[in-house]
Amino acid sequence: MKRGSFQEMKSLNKSIILTKILNDGPISRAQIAKETKLTPPTVGTLVKELMDQKMVLESSQGVSKGGRKPTMLIINQKAYYMIGIDAGPSKIDAILTDLSGKVITNLEYKLSLPMTEEQFLTSLIDVTEAILKQSSEYVDDIIGIGVAMHGVVDAETGYSFYAPNLDLHNMPIADTLSNHFSYLVKVENDARALALAEKWFGQGKDSERLVVVNIGNGVGAGVTIDGELYRGESHIAGEIGHMTIDLHGERCTCGNRGCLQTLISGPAISARTKKLIDQGAATSLSQVEQLTAFDVFQAAEAGDLFAQEVLHDTGSYIGIGLTNLIHTLNPSQIVLDGGVSKAGKYILPTIKATIDERALTKTAKQTIINISELGDHSTALGAVALIIVELFAKNGEISI
Ligand SMILES: [Zn+2]
Repeated sequence: MKRGSFQEMKSLNKSIILTKILNDGPISRAQIAKETKLTPPTVGTLVKELMDQKMVLESSQGVSKGGRKPTMLIINQKAYYMIGIDAGPSKIDAILTDLSGKVITNLEYKLSLPMTEEQFLTSLIDVTEAILKQSSEYVDDIIGIGVAMHGVVDAETGYSFYAPNLDLHNMPIADTLSNHFSYLVKVENDARALALAEKWFGQGKDSERLVVVNIGNGVGAGVTIDGELYRGESHIAGEIGHMTIDLHGERCTCGNRGCLQTLISGPAISARTKKLIDQGAATSLSQVEQLTAFDVFQAAEAGDLFAQEVLHDTGSYIGIGLTNLIHTLNPSQIVLDGGVSKAGKYILPTIKATIDERALTKTAKQTIINISELGDHSTALGAVALIIVELFAKNGEISI
């Protein structure tokens, strides 16, 4: 597909067929007609169009119920490609993937901080240019660029209102990139992009009410309700890192006291560890200024009982936050991502025990809690999913 050639109106029926093949493929034309209530001739015509556009392929032959074996249809995962950008706060992670989320190429770009709004936008252009250069053989089949950005983002306009960890305001990210590259550009808050990544490529495929909680330097959640991202009235839904857990707790970056983030984020774990070492905790960890949550994890792995205890306690705090989340949203599944979730072996048992102890009902206690398996590019994959969603949406901005 050539740049900017998105004019053709996409029919609703075509997107229904495409989504059917995505969810239930390999599937025959007859089965599609039966399950979508479209007439067999309509299905035949639209499938032919989708095959002409490379989006759908005929795969193996299905099982015959007497008569000729039906030809089965699948999505052509290599029809189109997307760029996904995980933007900051300390580095930019950019990937190029096919429709299945397979990473074809990637690059990492370190941001030199502090930086101005203009410098940040220029970095995004530089990174996009670099990944396009690495992807020259796919350029004609790239259909869009997704950007996952921390902080408060207006997904409709692709505008970043406030990026607290970079202290940047009011950046027209989508306009800047689409004016420069003539691709469709979608921008979303990073935790919400992660939720979309789990929904499309991860463990959330079959969860209609999925919450993904990112626990790293900050804490945020992406909420999906009936399969759709929930953003709230003014783009701040999911800011669970700032739910108050302890009225008289530590001061948070937001100015309040005792936010969940002050108990479970990476910096919170290292701060608590340092405090306990000062109080004489028996540990192999030495008291250093740069002690990180990863050091605590490594000590736990090496058998340090104190470090293991710190992580177990962190799991209990996470469990309290998740119980609040369960009582507010009652999701079917919660997936944990971010650096802290890599200590799953130490935090998961106490997370589950806390939920079991505190949740109101038996089914609430049994809410599925998983650790993400998407790997290092999970947020960038969420950015990719922002574009794929458009391809399958009834009124998506990409028409094929
Ligand atoms: Zn806070």
